[in-house]
Amino acid sequence: MKFNLLFLAVLLLFACNPKTAALEKSAPPPSPIPALAADFKKPKNIILMIGDGMGLTQITAGMYSNGGRLELEKFPVVGLHKSYAYDNLVTDSAAGATAFAAGVKTYNGAIGVNADTVAVKTILEEAEENGLKTGLIATSTIVHATPASFIAHQPQRKMYEAIAADFLKTDIDFFLGGGKKYFDRRAKDSRNLSQELRDKGYVVSDYFEKDLADISVASDKKFAYFTSDDDPLPVAQGRDYLPLAAKKAVDYFGAQDENFFLMIEGSQIDWGGHANNSDYIITEMLDFDKAIKEVLKFAAADGETLVIVTADHETGGYSINPGSTRDSLVTAFTTDYHTAVMIPVFAFGPGAKLFSGIYENTAIYEKMRVAYGW
Ligand code: MG
Ligand code: ZN
Repeated sequence: MKFNLLFLAVLLLFACNPKTAALEKSAPPPSPIPALAADFKKPKNIILMIGDGMGLTQITAGMYSNGGRLELEKFPVVGLHKSYAYDNLVTDSAAGATAFAAGVKTYNGAIGVNADTVAVKTILEEAEENGLKTGLIATSTIVHATPASFIAHQPQRKMYEAIAADFLKTDIDFFLGGGKKYFDRRAKDSRNLSQELRDKGYVVSDYFEKDLADISVASDKKFAYFTSDDDPLPVAQGRDYLPLAAKKAVDYFGAQDENFFLMIEGSQIDWGGHANNSDYIITEMLDFDKAIKEVLKFAAADGETLVIVTADHETGGYSINPGSTRDSLVTAFTTDYHTAVMIPVFAFGPGAKLFSGIYENTAIYEKMRVAYGW
């Protein structure tokens, strides 16, 4: 009897532990990966493009505002992913990107760590171990949640200086985005990470020193470029570097003997959603689509590059309402935060077929590994 009571107590303890409960809810059935043909051609390179906050309505609004067409229509394979996080049905960008980068559902705010705050190896780190070149591009700071989750391991997304220092622990070959101050004017220590990068052999430059358009990136050097001191501007206020950066990056990697992994983020589609600003969403969406155009041009010519375009989550509960015409959209929002709707995934190139169907956001990591043959 005593034993039975003890057993019951232990059982109750487990049943009431919120972490255990969340884990059970968050341990999804593994998403089946489509069977591969015997002659499956593996891609040599993967370019993962993330439109932060880019749900189906953001895509649709961009399309109607662009004469009814988008580069995205060139992708032969479309799927859907379930974006929810470990601790919340509505994910943030940190948990969302960590799911893509490392294949784990984690808590909102987590950067490259699992639900127990333990570092998880990312696809970028695995790419390095496998001898591939790697790159990150964003229109936020480069230490912001989405790019950070591919390269850093920190318990909270706001730890920007710690995230910047994590860049030095890797051999990333090409990175470009805002956030210069987190590298060279740090509050918490006196390290100058830009100098440390130079000491490691990087060419480091920034918007203040030289315009990106005027830089020819040497393919035998590692390259870091800061587009702003803090957050880059919106497109509507003059930012125009993303399509150019995408082109510079594929030219850079295309000139290498090694294969590569590259992540490119259209970061501010999300910020337009948070601001409930339809014009902001659309201008950022179309800027991202121009970057997709540059990447597709490279991938189509190269023939050995898998391109995946998706979002971490939708932002704004954005809708296109009655009264809209193709020239004039009547839009509305249900929230100034993210929502939990499923998110489209577009794939082009060898291995694209892996991305059809409906699956967990973590399956994108698994599918990329299968595509690489790891
Ligand atoms: Mg982001
Ligand atoms: Zn957001």
